[in-house]
Amino acid sequence: MDATAQKLERLVDRLGAGAVLTEHGDMIRYLRDWPGDVEGRALAVLRPDTTQAVAQAVRLCAELGLGIVPQGGNTGLTEAGTPQGRDQVVISLERLNRIRSMSPDDFAAVVEAGCVLETLKAAVDAADRYFPLALGAQGSCQIGGNVSTNAGGINVLRYGMTRDLILGLEVVLADGTIWDGLSVLRKDNRGIDLKQLFIGAEGTLGIVTAVAIKLLPRPEHVETALVALPSVGDVMALYRRARPACCDLISAFELMRPEALAFARDAYPDLAYPIPPDYPAYALMELTASGPIDLRAILDAFLEAEMEAGTVLDGVVAASRQQALNLWKIREGMNEGQALRGMHLRTDISVPLSRVADYIAEASEAIAAALPQCDCAAYGHVGDGNIHFNVLPPRGTERAAALAIMAEAKSILYAILDRFDGSISAEHGIGRAKKADFTKRLEPAQAGMLIAIKQALDPQWRMNPGSQLDRPQ
Ligand SMILES: Cc1cc2nc3c(=O)[nH]c(=O)nc-3n(C[C@H](O)[C@H](O)[C@H](O)COP(=O)(O)OP(=O)(O)OC[C@H]3O[C@@H](n4cnc5c(N)ncnc54)[C@H](O)[C@@H]3O)c2cc1C
Repeated sequence: MDATAQKLERLVDRLGAGAVLTEHGDMIRYLRDWPGDVEGRALAVLRPDTTQAVAQAVRLCAELGLGIVPQGGNTGLTEAGTPQGRDQVVISLERLNRIRSMSPDDFAAVVEAGCVLETLKAAVDAADRYFPLALGAQGSCQIGGNVSTNAGGINVLRYGMTRDLILGLEVVLADGTIWDGLSVLRKDNRGIDLKQLFIGAEGTLGIVTAVAIKLLPRPEHVETALVALPSVGDVMALYRRARPACCDLISAFELMRPEALAFARDAYPDLAYPIPPDYPAYALMELTASGPIDLRAILDAFLEAEMEAGTVLDGVVAASRQQALNLWKIREGMNEGQALRGMHLRTDISVPLSRVADYIAEASEAIAAALPQCDCAAYGHVGDGNIHFNVLPPRGTERAAALAIMAEAKSILYAILDRFDGSISAEHGIGRAKKADFTKRLEPAQAGMLIAIKQALDPQWRMNPGSQLDRPQ
């Protein structure tokens, strides 16, 4: 028996056949990333169903010298959950998916890492509370993955990133030690807040096994509007006026341009456009509140004033929740429609709010000049300065040519971004896809601290090897 077969036998013996997948056909959905652009390799996929079983798996991997790639719903967009070889295993958290406690009185819940976000949100809703994290992948992504990527989504401008919604964590460290940091305390200033290290670490420092989350009052009123404007600059000006005028109750503010609406139609051919799809720019905005407040009157008054001032070209306020969901379907359909076009450059950048319009204008001009054959889609959570500026090669472009176009487009967009003091990762993380661009922009002091933290918590560099940082030679 060769060394690989021996390792497999030890994994199955110690963890049980039901918790270890070894056949390629069974493993494929854990090996391929969500867009299907890359397929990795692994010795096995481990599926522990308790924290103790995760710890046991981690200790066994240490004995066998195996790297570990933790995995949640595998919806990440940075290749961070894609294993790189037969000297690695995937540890999937999908079977660790219980709600341990729901405490409406504490405005808190403790849930296991493998809880699918949508399922978790429904359970919180049933307890008459609200968990505001919301993103297009919520039917598949898991709370442990959300923590590990510090996911953003559509409600960040009101409720913050995942980091702002976390009270405590339980983590299996790289040596198999279980750290119980599952506090539901809202204020706890006892020294360094260790949970912050694991939030956004993309599985490079340990495996999150459970999460204490913050709950909020359930919004009783939600109002959604789609507004057409003459330019992206006007969308951002509208945002600046809308925040104070709408009592700072805006929970989502999304930019879309006409090409984005066309992508949505590609994905959903029956999609109804409630206003003409060829205005230069659109804002999709949502207000939420609970308690005795007439949210609709606030939104109507704001939009009427804008109409009278001539700043808004057209608009529709959803008359029902179903109409609101239809408006959001346009936003979701944009991603789906782009996915149908095959390989393309997806960016996830942020710039200061005051520079969003200038960035999009300059980037659009530069891409049109250098790559006139490509389509662009610029949209995003612009209330947070977050833009997805995507570049799509012509239909049918071969893989090698598409990769070359994507590389050129990326260097153009990032060069402009550097001048705008922006970030190459507003919310998706670094993973493997952005590692080179991330590390070359690190300041020496920042690189030194990141390496020191990694070295201290994972001295063998076995947790998600090759993601975020490479081990210094
Ligand atoms: C259609 C679509 C829309 C999206 N929209 C948004 C958006 O609006 N905002 C946003 O921020 N992201 C978005 N994403 C990206 C993605 O959904 C998020 O990054 C999400 O948080 C990933 O969760 P996951 O469970 O799928 O994690 P995975 O993809 O499985 O893993 C992501 C990273 O976290 C690590 N990891 C996963 N679970 C654990 C764990 N328990 N412990 C330690 N490490 C772990 C993995 O190793 C990997 O490095 C979108 C993705 C898609 C496909």
